Amino acid sequence: MKVLKFGGTSVGSLENIQKVITIIENQSKNDSICVVVSAFSGVTDQLLHAGKLAASKDARFSEIFQQLKTRHQEVATGLNVSTENSVQFQTYLAQLEDLLKGIYYINELSNRTQDRLAAFGELCSSSIITESLQQKGLAAKRKNAVELIVTKNGTARKSVNYAVTNKNIETYFHTASERITIVPGFVAALENNEITTLGRGGSDFSAAIIAAALDTSELQIWTDVSGMYTANPSLVKHAKPIKNISYQEAMELSHFGAKVLYPPTIVPVMQKNIQIAIKNTFAPEDEGTLITNTVDPNEESVKGITNIGNIALLTLEGTGLVGIPGISKRLFETISQQSINVILITQASSEHSICLGILAEEATKAQNAIDLEFENEIELGKMFPVIVEEDLSIIALVGDKMKNHQGISGKMFSKLGKNNINIRAIAQGASEKNISAVIAKKDVKKALNVLHERFFEDQRKQINLYIAGVGNVGAKLLNQIEQQKQYLKEKLNLNIRVIGITNSKKMYFNSDGIPLKKWETLLAEGEPTSIEGFQNKINTYNKRNSVFVDVTANETVANSYNTLLEKSVAVVACNKIACSAEYDKYAELKHLATQYNAPFLFETNVGAGLPIIDTLNNLIASGDQVITIKAVLSGSLNFVFNNYKEGVAFHDVVQQAKAEGYTEPDPRIDLSGVDVARKILILARESGLQLNLEDVVNTPFLTSKNLESTSVDHFFETLIEDDAHFQKLLASATKNKAQLKYVAQLVDGTLQVGLEEIPSGHPFYNLEGKDNMVLFYTKRYPEQPLIIKGAGAGADVTASGLFSDIIRLRTF
Ligand code: ADP
Ligand code: ASP
Ligand code: MG
Repeated sequence: MKVLKFGGTSVGSLENIQKVITIIENQSKNDSICVVVSAFSGVTDQLLHAGKLAASKDARFSEIFQQLKTRHQEVATGLNVSTENSVQFQTYLAQLEDLLKGIYYINELSNRTQDRLAAFGELCSSSIITESLQQKGLAAKRKNAVELIVTKNGTARKSVNYAVTNKNIETYFHTASERITIVPGFVAALENNEITTLGRGGSDFSAAIIAAALDTSELQIWTDVSGMYTANPSLVKHAKPIKNISYQEAMELSHFGAKVLYPPTIVPVMQKNIQIAIKNTFAPEDEGTLITNTVDPNEESVKGITNIGNIALLTLEGTGLVGIPGISKRLFETISQQSINVILITQASSEHSICLGILAEEATKAQNAIDLEFENEIELGKMFPVIVEEDLSIIALVGDKMKNHQGISGKMFSKLGKNNINIRAIAQGASEKNISAVIAKKDVKKALNVLHERFFEDQRKQINLYIAGVGNVGAKLLNQIEQQKQYLKEKLNLNIRVIGITNSKKMYFNSDGIPLKKWETLLAEGEPTSIEGFQNKINTYNKRNSVFVDVTANETVANSYNTLLEKSVAVVACNKIACSAEYDKYAELKHLATQYNAPFLFETNVGAGLPIIDTLNNLIASGDQVITIKAVLSGSLNFVFNNYKEGVAFHDVVQQAKAEGYTEPDPRIDLSGVDVARKILILARESGLQLNLEDVVNTPFLTSKNLESTSVDHFFETLIEDDAHFQKLLASATKNKAQLKYVAQLVDGTLQVGLEEIPSGHPFYNLEGKDNMVLFYTKRYPEQPLIIKGAGAGADVTASGLFSDIIRLRTF
């Protein structure tokens, strides 16, 4: 004999019931079976809702009644069952309607009446399913569980009188002649014969009680997923079914929120060593989960991760708690008298406070009872009134073998911390089968996913990008990411997804990753953008390993890094504004990056894609010290002076540099030296100096007329007017056989930028085109400097510099 239980979704529609009938037909070929059925999905909720409406004098309860009636009739008709002719079904409907009307008239809904009401779901579904099996010529008979399962009067609902129940079941099945017995789940009788229920989700329990009483070989729980998963599959995409699990583990998982199995279900079958198979009605060929008492020696230490939503944390605090025996006893007695289930307890070793996690819906009841119990202590100031925190959830790691492995909780909490998930309370059972943490409800999905990634998925890191600025450089970056995606996955175990993009007008998001081949079309169809709007989206998605990439030159965007870092969102910027703003701002960002474990990388601020800042950071991290930096850091100025020859007007060269895109739209930013000053300032700061832009000694090579020009056009006019000045600079260099280079330097802790005549033989002498070069003189490189040289401007190299920063994040 086998017992099979089908849940609400399995019997939720005509098509689904037909699948159930096929399974019943197959399984009853070789063995007699008992089939426990739930109410059609959603029906129990609807019944309770109708009851609440009726009790509050809301006549809309009758609409729900009509809906329920129609739904059952339609399913029945589809199964060739006539509800009109079914005396039993008609009786149930009439009773239900009377009951609802009664509640409406007396304006009251007691727990007992609620139970009677909720029972109709299973009573109706089981009668329709039995008749449809009979219609098909199968030997099926229905037995009402109310005549089998008896619960103790006056105790919690789940307390079964096993002596009577087991006898009822044995006696009935001993003589039952049909191969198939259909039993409504969830319903039971009190000792006084009144109808009751076994608690929400209780059909699993009904089936387990019957299986245990009959000592069957197996209990099958047929549901809408392929077993007990490593985490709730509706919240964690990569969750997978657990093949084998022990009773203890399954019990722990279900107690901590794995809804697929109602927690009390395991006890009766475990005592008889009956295995539980969890199977999927919609994919019967899937293996599912087998729950037994055997533990696989090679199995993983963490078996599953669960969550319970809607938790309230109650904290009882005060000096009155210290060393006084009996306080905990009084507290727990008070809670238990209210029939409130305590899910988690923590107590500080100072005994100064006790913290309880309970279901949020019971928080007020618990708060009132506790405050009343400790009224005297509170009045005397020995204790504070209980503090209630809501909107919390519990997440838990479960596994029999966790106790044999060190460092699991370390991994758990560091992973949560790195993802900015605040932990309100922690509990670890002494048996170490379970480590639980209380966190904010809004963080649950993220927490489950990061922990799942950590404990169950291959260690491929997922990086989620939000890119602001998709012009020239940004577009190249998207292109490079698309091209390298596969390589990064295979070679670096790195999965990069772009979740959001924005330009100055529109923003577009896709939480699974934007298909990069068509980002332009998608962005054009996006929503109007704003910095706050973009950031809000990042916060709402609340994804792990989130990175904001700033490819703009916008000051407001740069001012938003702090709020991102505070949410543990990493920042990668080619925008120089933040790092060259006042020192305090720069320092704050560096500090936030460390505090929130959210890297702030800006390699492209100096020398585009050249690894200048990274090299400098590595030198310093390995204990070296910067003595002097000499550098040519402006691709634009290099271009200008490399092309400035005798017989050419300086004005024309600058014009050409601008036309070819080598200068800022306002070339004065480059020619005045401001851009280079910012870059050397950033290098100085990264070398450990607390300097500001005003500290850079900037000796201009432009004339005061050039510098005082009122517009870009005016600037170009002054270049013509002062052409003689530039000719003089060139003539002097030619005479000295030198090259003109715009040089930035850090010497003795001071910063300078200016035009210099570089003699032949100097490393800068042969610098071509828009190349940059940096010479680091350090303690370890005192005479022969460490040199970095290469193209220091251009969209492609800047994009690849950003890309390297993003790839660098894989180690965080
Ligand atoms: P039934 O109506 O068949 O009793 P339930 O809705 O009670 O089904 O339980 C199945 C649901 O439990 C799944 O659809 C899934 O959303 C949820 N669930 C939560 N945690 C887990 C888990 N760890 N493994 C499988 N399912 C889970
Ligand atoms: N129908 C009941 C409920 O929804 C029992 C069950 O489905 O297990 O809670
Ligand atoms: Mg269920």
